[in-house]
Amino acid sequence: SEARAIVEPRIATIPDFPEPGILFRDLTPVFADGPAFHALSESLTLPFAGRFDVLAGVEARGFLLAAAGSVLAGTGVLPVRKAGKLPRKVLTEEYALEYGTAALEVHEGELPPGTRVLIVDDVLATGGTVGAAARLVERAGWEVVGVSVAIELEGLGGRAALPDGLEVYSLLQY
Ligand code: IMP
Repeated sequence: SEARAIVEPRIATIPDFPEPGILFRDLTPVFADGPAFHALSESLTLPFAGRFDVLAGVEARGFLLAAAGSVLAGTGVLPVRKAGKLPRKVLTEEYALEYGTAALEVHEGELPPGTRVLIVDDVLATGGTVGAAARLVERAGWEVVGVSVAIELEGLGGRAALPDGLEVYSLLQY
């Protein structure tokens, strides 16, 4: 696709970050380039056009893509935050990290019941992060219409770790 052709050459690949043996995909050069950022943000919403009311972005890089995509699509944005940041009553979902756990939160009642939510993040690795975001949206009484990511690291099995039948789109696969 046109988006793939403009985004892919701007992804930086860093060996041994943040730890030895990890090949880190860095999207900051894509964010820094106007046409590439536009193309990426738009590409994540197009497969779900007309089927979502809100983009949910996972803190922090998912915020950039969800914010840009929602402005292009004319929808709102739901920040899915790391634990402890939101001031009102929250729902919390824990997920596994390589060592220990982390948690994501949204405000209860932030969106009307049944709101159609498309979850957006930069990278799908093991699926722990996006899976927790999907559980949060469901528990809050909204509908997960799908997951859209810039990069899917296929070797880590993230897609298979997500609920059966959940529609997952990735612009690039490694
Ligand atoms: P997961 O929970 O294992 O799927 O990991 C996904 C989360 O970790 C996302 O929020 C990503 O931002 C981050 N992540 C994992 N691998 C990479 C990478 O290679 N580059 C950038 N972010 C990554």
